[in-house]
Amino acid sequence: MVTTQPAVPATRTGTRGTVSVRGLTKRFGDAIAVDGIDLDIAAGEFLCLLGPSGCGKTTTLRMIAGFEQPDAGEILVSGVEVSGTPPYRRDVNTVFQAYALFPHMTVAENVAYGLRQRRTPRAEIRERVVASLDMVRMRRYADRKPTQLSGGQQQRIALARALVNRPAVLLLDEPLGALDRQLREEMQLELKLLQSDLGMTFVFVTHDQGEALSMSDRIAIMRDGRVEQLADPTTVYSQPASAFVAGFVGQQNFLEDGDEVIAIRPEHVRLEAAGKQSGKQSARAGELDGTLLAIAPLGETVQYQVRLEDGRALLARRPAPEAPALAVGDRVRCTWTPDQARRFPASEAASLLATTDTIATAPDTEGAS
Ligand code: ATP
Repeated sequence: MVTTQPAVPATRTGTRGTVSVRGLTKRFGDAIAVDGIDLDIAAGEFLCLLGPSGCGKTTTLRMIAGFEQPDAGEILVSGVEVSGTPPYRRDVNTVFQAYALFPHMTVAENVAYGLRQRRTPRAEIRERVVASLDMVRMRRYADRKPTQLSGGQQQRIALARALVNRPAVLLLDEPLGALDRQLREEMQLELKLLQSDLGMTFVFVTHDQGEALSMSDRIAIMRDGRVEQLADPTTVYSQPASAFVAGFVGQQNFLEDGDEVIAIRPEHVRLEAAGKQSGKQSARAGELDGTLLAIAPLGETVQYQVRLEDGRALLARRPAPEAPALAVGDRVRCTWTPDQARRFPASEAASLLATTDTIATAPDTEGAS
């Protein structure tokens, strides 16, 4: 638990901590990295920029931070237009994936560095360094060198170094990307607690949809330099705005059906031993027979891979206590309620179908289950 008093008072009213971008655009040569993005981030909000590699997340963040100049558009931080303002004059701080701590300095010296540069009085530096180290539960490591710390501890110090400046907005670029899975999940929880306690605005870049779903107030899903959907995690998961979002967030079965593609979540597929066919089966009607290829006990759920009669694959997942008694090789009937399926134009999903062989498995999908 983070128990320290907030260094920055929550400013959920007023403009401190808000971020607005309008028509934000960045080109590198002929390539467009960010293509006219509009975003309004509320004070105290935890917003994730989520999307595949190269979609423009980092470039967007770097423009808000001031490390990259936009070709067009406006950026307002705490209500102030900051285009042309250098990074250190903006009310933001950035935490990168690479911690970039000074190896020859102690933890405390690393955290104090920015304040020293700004000639902050010594007593104040001491007080603020201790407060920041407390926030990340690292006070007792103050006299160590970064090389004497684990990756997770080093990332905590990088976080403390950003927090010591008391920015209104913290920008985080895949800050947990270098950590192993277990540590990453612990840090996700800690970061969320910290953000909530401080009431600070967090703009968090990740390509890990489980991370985005578990931490965000809202997620901006980016593709090819644009925001494809901006909504809270539940909406993004249950009402994806496009086939791309449906496939990127959580696991999804895509079944072609004429000029449409039907997207159905594995947890919405029910399984039973196949009986006599009652009528004409179709993805649209929510009933297809197949053969059970594999059964995977995943803990809370059991996952089934089914080869449908036309050769397509289908993934089903049931809560372990409700797992049907079926064996590999059994003939099975897969059913779902048609209103749990989402339909998209086949043209929109063509690239997904081509690359995923009908089962779209987003990177690191466990957080979505
Ligand atoms: P990743 O998750 O891999 O970091 P991203 O979504 O953060 O990806 P960006 O790093 O913003 O994506 O890159 C967006 C596009 O801009 C990519 O096509 C990338 O190759 C290009 N790009 C980014 N920085 C530069 C640069 N300095 N020079 C040229 N092209 C760049």
